[in-house]
Amino acid sequence: MSAGANDCFEAVPCGVCGADDFSIVYPADNKAGRVENVAETFRSSGDEKLTDQLVRCRVCGFQYLNPRLKASLVLEGYSAGEDATFVSQAVSREETFFDALAAIESMAPAKGRVLDVGTAGGSFLAAARRRGWETAGCEPNRWLCEWAGKSYGLQVTPGTIFDMSLAEASFDLVTLWDVLEHTPDPRKVLTECRRVLKPGGLLVVNYPDIGSAVARMMGRRWVFLLSVHLYYFDQKAMARILNETGFTVLQSRPHWQKLELDYILFRMQAYIPVVPAFFRKVFAAVGLKNLNVPYWMGQTLVIAK
Ligand SMILES: [Zn+2]
Repeated sequence: MSAGANDCFEAVPCGVCGADDFSIVYPADNKAGRVENVAETFRSSGDEKLTDQLVRCRVCGFQYLNPRLKASLVLEGYSAGEDATFVSQAVSREETFFDALAAIESMAPAKGRVLDVGTAGGSFLAAARRRGWETAGCEPNRWLCEWAGKSYGLQVTPGTIFDMSLAEASFDLVTLWDVLEHTPDPRKVLTECRRVLKPGGLLVVNYPDIGSAVARMMGRRWVFLLSVHLYYFDQKAMARILNETGFTVLQSRPHWQKLELDYILFRMQAYIPVVPAFFRKVFAAVGLKNLNVPYWMGQTLVIAK
């Protein structure tokens, strides 16, 4: 690592209880040049396997990266760069969101205004608009904001929720799809979500659950142990941080995502080198590579009010 690399990292306390007392789960795996390429690491489809140190809070059991890249560098990484791999799955994502919204709407008091925090290419907002919602969203990546404008005609605010200057109690639904674990300060983000929600409004958080059976079974090889995931919630930690920011959990369940078969195999190649490459060829040959298949690796959907 270069001499300046240490300046890029910061020590952080537990994101749930605030304690600074931890044990090491996985030590850091230092690769030269890691921080020179922040924009490449921090993109929506970022799939660089975890190299930073994962720790567990001795007080509450929450797992998080510590030390981790400075928050300002994380955000800088997200704002730059293009992400064509991620948007290649826009149609499959829309389909997943369309189905998920049907279930969410059955619990919502009204179909009104929805805010999607970290909307990436806007697939969720496009699905929501098709179902009659009035939409708003933010996304730090400028390229994805433009993509959402060109592809869906959506106005997405470049930046984070804190760049939106939103009025208090102005939304019926706020959603965070695979976003909270990427943010440098989840508690601050949830507090802001609470402020902009109308009384009785709903919050939806989708996150990879490190306490799920599949995560425990895969251990160090779990697909969501990534450099871009700064925090690792399980159901207990998620319920606690939601309660402490003013929410009550109504439902928590596995969230099956639809993705194209070829994309799943492509992502699997990072873990198992030969077999997925072989099947990609087979499925391409028989014309099945664009088949939408449901897959679940511990993604959990929480609905709270
Ligand atoms: Zn803690």
